[in-house]
Amino acid sequence: MKKVLITGANKSIGFETARQLLQKGYYIYLGSRNFQNGQKAVEKLKAEGLNEVEAIQLDVSDQESVNAARKEIGRKTDVLDVLINNAGISGGLPQTATETAVSIFKNVFDINLFGVVRVTQAFIDLLSNSPQPCIVNVSSSMASLTLNSDPSWLYYNHKGAAYLPSKTALNMYTVNLAYEFKGTPFKINAVDPGFIATDFNDHRGTGTVEDAGKRIVKYAVLDADGPTGKFISEETNSETGEIPW
Ligand code: NAP
Repeated sequence: MKKVLITGANKSIGFETARQLLQKGYYIYLGSRNFQNGQKAVEKLKAEGLNEVEAIQLDVSDQESVNAARKEIGRKTDVLDVLINNAGISGGLPQTATETAVSIFKNVFDINLFGVVRVTQAFIDLLSNSPQPCIVNVSSSMASLTLNSDPSWLYYNHKGAAYLPSKTALNMYTVNLAYEFKGTPFKINAVDPGFIATDFNDHRGTGTVEDAGKRIVKYAVLDADGPTGKFISEETNSETGEIPW
């Protein structure tokens, strides 16, 4: 049974992604910074008959928590097949370029970029033991420098001086990571879930968590022919999925 770690999976997009991968027969380590919330999420899934899941305490902003999660999962398995770096925060929007405090930038980058670095570095050895490892970095189409400079783009007026650059930086980390593993079985992509109604945006999103889950799952279950080092937004480009960086 293939094994998956999802960060920030106690609710919203991460939780729905866990549900869809369970339905496909994957085993899920459900990351949650609050262990009780993770356990509640697991109970919900088990009540639906989805049993191959366990909660793991994992705060991506805390290196000790990441190390402890790595130790715990390492006691259970030598192989991790999929890592979904989903945990993320906006830092509270709107964020103007002139008035957003540096402390907000630091907090947002600590979770959206450094959190991904911490978790990826901690689990890369277990992922390397998989015959077909996949990493999905949950990004945002709003991280695209090209699209966000185009006044005719649907989300042109959706800015965020700390949140958007944190995801742009995540994209460049994804490019570097994919480069490091080129020519290997690794598939590493930045995937935009779409504008989704969750707590993240006070449920103003126009898509559902089911849509988002499908978009993420597609890049979590890639085979040897799948893409790597790409920036994907199936909401923005429904034909190929690929969008400009
Ligand atoms: P959400 O409803 O706010 O859920 C975010 C999840 O991340 C929660 O489980 C939260 O845990 C967790 N989290 C926050 N800080 C964490 C930390 N330090 N360590 C571990 N987990 C942490 O957001 P969402 O809409 O599901 O977003 C999921 C991802 O999609 C994010 O990366 C977001 O940037 C991205 N995204 C969302 C949209 C959208 O329209 N919703 C669009 C583009 C990209 P708690 O429950 O403990 O807070």
